[in-house]
Amino acid sequence: MEERARCPSGKPAQKSRHQMSRCSVSTRSQSRSTWGLFKGMPAEVFDMVLEHLSVKEMSVFSMVSKAISSHIAGYVSTKAWRRRMILQKFHHPVHKECVLEHYRSLGLLFKRCTLLLPTKERLKFIYSKLSEVPCFEINKCTVTPGCLGFASYGVFLQTLIAGWDELECHRVFSFLCNYTSLPRKLRAAVMGLPGAAPDLEVQIRLFCRSVLLDWWRDQADRLFWLTRLLQPWPFVSQARLLFIFYGPLSQDGKIEWEKMTENVVPECDLWDLAKIIRMLFSESEAKEWTADSVISILDEISASPQFWLRENLARLLILCGNRVCFNFMASKALNGRVMEISRLLVFLILVCEKDNYYMNWSVKMALQIGRLFPERRSFIQNIETAFSQVAMEMCETLMAGGQNADPNLIHNLCSILNANAHFHTEMLCMFIKEYSS
Ligand SMILES: [Zn+2]
Repeated sequence: MEERARCPSGKPAQKSRHQMSRCSVSTRSQSRSTWGLFKGMPAEVFDMVLEHLSVKEMSVFSMVSKAISSHIAGYVSTKAWRRRMILQKFHHPVHKECVLEHYRSLGLLFKRCTLLLPTKERLKFIYSKLSEVPCFEINKCTVTPGCLGFASYGVFLQTLIAGWDELECHRVFSFLCNYTSLPRKLRAAVMGLPGAAPDLEVQIRLFCRSVLLDWWRDQADRLFWLTRLLQPWPFVSQARLLFIFYGPLSQDGKIEWEKMTENVVPECDLWDLAKIIRMLFSESEAKEWTADSVISILDEISASPQFWLRENLARLLILCGNRVCFNFMASKALNGRVMEISRLLVFLILVCEKDNYYMNWSVKMALQIGRLFPERRSFIQNIETAFSQVAMEMCETLMAGGQNADPNLIHNLCSILNANAHFHTEMLCMFIKEYSS
C-alpha cells in the first residue's frame, strides 16, 4: 500500500491512494459526471492511463476538469511517482538542458493541478513534494558548483509562479523564508566577518542566484526578488549581500573579499556587480529604492572588508555608467571631501587610459563635478596635485622594488603619465573649440 501525502484540499493524510482519489472526487465534484469519457473507470485503471502520459501531457490533462485535476494531484503525491519524477541525478549531468526542461514541465504540472487552491495551500502542497531533495537545500549538498539542484529548483519556481501578481509573490517569498530558514542563514552570513563562513557564503550565493534571481528575463521580476532579499537589512549588510551574490569568485569557488583591497582587478571581475548596481539605480525612481540609498550601498561595498584600491573603485564606477558615477562623486562633494574626489577622478582618468575608453568622457565628468564647487580654481589645483601624488607614489613603489620591480608597476607608471597627457590634451582641445566658436 502506498503512502499518501495530504490531499490538496488540505484534508488529513489518508492511507490509500485510491481511497483518497475517491474522496477528493466525490467531495469536490459530488459526482463523476465531470469525468466525461473516464466516468465509471476504476481509479487503478485511471492511474495506469496517467502512467503513460508525459509530465507535460499530464499538466494539460489536469485542466480538463476539477475532478481530474484533483485525481492527478493525488497521483503526483504518491511516493512511487515522486521517486520516479522528482528525484533526479543533479551531479554533473550529461544533458543539463534535459534536467532543466523536466523541472520546467514539473513546474507547469504543479501550477495546473493546484490551480483552484488558495496560494498558501497551494505552496504547502507543492513544497511537501519537494521536501526530500537535499540538492534543493542550503548546505545539504557538497557537490558545488557541479550540482544542478538549485538551478532545477529555480526553473521549477519560475514556471510555477510566472504571471502571479505581486501580492502572491510576496506570499511565495514569505513561504520560502519559512520553508528554507533563509533569513537565519543570511543573518549568519552578514553578522560575521567577511569570509568567516566561506561555505555558507557560497551556498547563499548559489541558492539566491539560481533559485530566486537569475532565471528572470524581465528586469522588474529580478528587482522584485532582489529587493525582497535586501530590504530587511541595513545598508552595510545590503552591501555585504550584494558582494556575496555578485562579487568575484576565486578558483576554488570562494568569495574573493580581499582581492579588491590587494590587487588591481580586470573588468570581468566587476561586471556582475556593476550590472546589478545599474539596475538598482535605474529603478531608483520606483517606490522601494532611492538614488541616495543605492549610492550609500555602493559606498559601503567599496569599503568592505577594507577600503578598495581606488583603481578598482574607479573601474566599477565606470562600468556602472555616467549617472551612478556622477552621483557617487557628487555625494562626496556635498560632504566637502575634495581631495578624495580629486584622487578618485585621477583613477577614473587612469582607467580610461588603461581600458581604452574615450578620454573626453573623463573630461566631461571632471567638468560636471567641478560645477559642484564654487571655488573652481581650488578644485583644479586639487586634481593636479592628485595627479602628481599618484605618479610619485607609483615611482616610489617602483624604486623600492629595485631591479626586481614588478613589470606591472612600470606599466602603471607609463599609464598614469599617458593618462595625464591625454586628459590635458582633450581638455585643451575642448577649450580651444569653445573659445573659437
Ligand atoms: Zn547536489
